[in-house]
Amino acid sequence: MHLKLDQAPWQSAAKGVDAAGHHQPVGYWHETVSITPGAPLADQLDCDVAIVGGGFTGLSTAYHLKLHKPELEIALVEAGVVGHGASGRNGGFVMPLLGWDLLYAVDKLGDKTAGDAYRVMYDAVSYVKQTVAEHQLDCDLEATGYLLLNACGAREKRGRREYEAAHRLGFEHQWLEGDALNAYINSDQFTSGVFDPHPCVINPAKLARAMKELIASLGVRVYEQSPLLELTDGQPAVLRTPEGELHARQVMLAVNGYGEALGFLKSRILPVHTFIVLTEPLTAAQLDAVGWSEKRASLESARNFIHYFRLTADNRILFGGEDAKLYYQGRYFDADDAVFDALKERFRAYFPALRDVAFTHQWGGVLGISLDMFPSFGATGDHNNLFYAGGYSGHGVALSNYAGAIIAPLILRAGGETNVDTPPNTPFFVGHKPFWLGFEPFRYLGVQAYRALLRAQDSIQGA
Ligand SMILES: Cc1cc2nc3c(=O)[nH]c(=O)nc-3n(C[C@H](O)[C@H](O)[C@H](O)COP(=O)(O)OP(=O)(O)OC[C@H]3O[C@@H](n4cnc5c(N)ncnc54)[C@H](O)[C@@H]3O)c2cc1C
Repeated sequence: MHLKLDQAPWQSAAKGVDAAGHHQPVGYWHETVSITPGAPLADQLDCDVAIVGGGFTGLSTAYHLKLHKPELEIALVEAGVVGHGASGRNGGFVMPLLGWDLLYAVDKLGDKTAGDAYRVMYDAVSYVKQTVAEHQLDCDLEATGYLLLNACGAREKRGRREYEAAHRLGFEHQWLEGDALNAYINSDQFTSGVFDPHPCVINPAKLARAMKELIASLGVRVYEQSPLLELTDGQPAVLRTPEGELHARQVMLAVNGYGEALGFLKSRILPVHTFIVLTEPLTAAQLDAVGWSEKRASLESARNFIHYFRLTADNRILFGGEDAKLYYQGRYFDADDAVFDALKERFRAYFPALRDVAFTHQWGGVLGISLDMFPSFGATGDHNNLFYAGGYSGHGVALSNYAGAIIAPLILRAGGETNVDTPPNTPFFVGHKPFWLGFEPFRYLGVQAYRALLRAQDSIQGA
């Protein structure tokens, strides 16, 4: 296998660091933490494991490799700064969602496999809480729970079935309507909801930067401003960056939605974008007006094109979703004015009482989506020494943070270690190769047609 970076898709998005070497923040979270870009790789270096990508997947892999085997020489190269990608820009929902939803997973996989896979997702959520507590990672973690809101009859029916499936599989969801629902959120747009008490929210940029400090303290060499330009498969594999080269026995490709530009899992993990708008901090009276002051649940509206909304630590409302876009030829964008405008309009429809609240930030980013919405972990290459994890399909904060627990044992076992086990129930995630979606322009046209279908269903249902 030979990978080469096609720089064209990057031209439309921030690189993370400007020509003068200063961090280029994208969105609010990046402004809440001080980021000084680290030095690039400027040498030729031999290492046991090279990790490409400084998002949660790469950071978690480095962390778990070091936990198992502290003497490993690990080098991580990141194109911009750690947390530049989805991991530093997301909504911060740490949730167990897999596929479209639990019902979808049950329909596709059956009770047993879906139940086991969801248990892994719950383990991933618990893992984030434990790791943050254990290492006192400063990331504004708030145990909010998560409420999936229904806005129409069709979604309410599906919500009921989802709630029943959750109970059958042993998950403690609660059905909410009337006053019980209003105690969480007060908007006449929503008639019912399913509450899951387990999820939490974080400040994702803070978590990514704290994880960078943690792995560096364990001896991982982290090189920022170091895009992988070319990877030549082999034993060792050779990874070329603008000013340096890594020779690595094993490689972890932790690039998720950015794999497309490297030609990795191209057209299998699609670079789909989602966007967010953020309000100014709300006053106590404004929060009361929408019934969001006491139970600070993170919220999502149940539709094909979801809306996700939550409060930040300083009481802003983060409001994201509305559309999800694959751009022609897999280009990357940090902004889309049409989606920002549509999000603001929707926000005002959900919360007329907050019509005059100002928006201070708007941004977006790329995530990796597979056709069946399930993630993939595995090994590939002529020497089976190129590992990967991705395709979390919009719900990767928990699982990408947990990714190392699953992939590190596979890397170590392939490297000759015998006494390392993967966590229980993870086989479903390993070797699940995403479908290939074809070449441009057919891929783009196919995805546009599918988007139109999903939008039409949302609008017919009135969700
Ligand atoms: C706007 C937005 C909102 C989201 N909200 C949520 C949410 O609330 N909850 C949830 O569960 N999920 C959410 N997600 C998805 C979630 O953020 C991702 O699934 C998760 O962060 C993926 O982590 P990752 O490390 O695999 O990928 P990324 O965080 O994208 O990391 C990949 C890294 O690789 C680097 N890179 C790329 N190419 C190269 C190269 N050639 N050489 C070196 N480095 C390279 C990139 O700069 C990037 O830092 C959201 C995503 C977005 C974009």
